[in-house]
Amino acid sequence: MQKSTIAIDTKLPRQDAFGAIAMPVYHTAAYEFETAKAMADAFCGRVLAPDYSRVMNPTVMHLEDTVKALTDAANVFAFCSGMAAITNTLMVFVEQGKNIVTSRHLFGNTVALLNRTLSRFGIETRQVDLLDLDAVRNAIDEHTACLYFEIVTNPQMEVADIAALADIAHEKGIPLIADTTVIPFTQFSAKRLGVDVEVVSSTKYISGGATSLGGLVIDYGTFPVVNQRIRFELLFNVGSYMSPHAAYMQSLGLETLDARYRVQAQNALTLARKLQEVPEIKRVNYIGLEDNPFHELAQKQFGETGGAMLTFDLADKQTCFRFIDHLQLIRRATNLFDNKTLAIHPYSTIFGPFGKSQKLAMDVYDTTIRLSVGLEAVEDIFDDIVQAVRAIP
Ligand SMILES: *Cc1c(COP(=O)(O)O)cnc(C)c1O
Repeated sequence: MQKSTIAIDTKLPRQDAFGAIAMPVYHTAAYEFETAKAMADAFCGRVLAPDYSRVMNPTVMHLEDTVKALTDAANVFAFCSGMAAITNTLMVFVEQGKNIVTSRHLFGNTVALLNRTLSRFGIETRQVDLLDLDAVRNAIDEHTACLYFEIVTNPQMEVADIAALADIAHEKGIPLIADTTVIPFTQFSAKRLGVDVEVVSSTKYISGGATSLGGLVIDYGTFPVVNQRIRFELLFNVGSYMSPHAAYMQSLGLETLDARYRVQAQNALTLARKLQEVPEIKRVNYIGLEDNPFHELAQKQFGETGGAMLTFDLADKQTCFRFIDHLQLIRRATNLFDNKTLAIHPYSTIFGPFGKSQKLAMDVYDTTIRLSVGLEAVEDIFDDIVQAVRAIP
């Protein structure tokens, strides 16, 4: 079956009492059992049935089942945000005295989670250049818990060679964890490329118009500890499971993901090509452009499309601010893959709390605008950019 069909027609875990077509929102905390034994079986994990919605909820289970069918995963767990999915996944593997090997290019809050939060628990982070595979290999030692990376970094738009990283991780006996938020899991198979655990901010493409926050842990079963710890330890003890309402919104979002993604990715490609012709724009960085240094690798891994995020550079920071202030259609907002096109100056916002030298080390520049391309008519998005670029100070 095609993914677009699976996303819409994955069966509910149980026949609904009223034959509802969509999974109803089970806005409920606890579930009653027929017998003491059935209750004991559920509580002890011998039977997977909801007993308390901190750990399992029918509406959330339906979202998890659909993602499982779409990715051919062993287990899928839904959390209340992308950061919760990342934190819980790392908590499976880390402990005091262990280290995490990762990229010097990472999502801002992930950097802060590693260097500010987890560091207080005695966990070291080693950030290397992921394009230098020898550096990756050399950073891993017997105390390394995992190799963690993002498939396309933001805002640098660096594409990781996933199969090469998988080879290194597996040679060293550690799991490869990929944040795949920026290309939907319906477009490519992280499992086939050797990823052990995929984490996704479902706030982005999946939620369907930025309706809700969410995060997914997609576990391919290669490290059984993931299922053991998340299902029987972390969901209970950390308490960051997805809410039924968010799961409802995200199940609806998943149904239209394929259709939305195709238009957004096509809009991004058309826009990137047109922006290259605008003299005020110094550089357009989009992996879908043929002359992008990562184009070939991106196509090999992710297929024809290059996602809906691009960046471009203007003369200086002041020009960037003036550009943002003059936008009329495009929204001044963070977030990615809303139906609406969004613009942000990453240097002064997402990376605002980092020092100048830290930002330089991360290749975050004050000349860069990040655009998340939406579903509007691409001519209208282009016209808004051109008028804002040309606005008189
Ligand atoms: C947004 C994002 C996150 C965090 O997800 P939230 O749902 O906002 O918690 C993590 N990684 C990447 C690549 C993101 O874009």
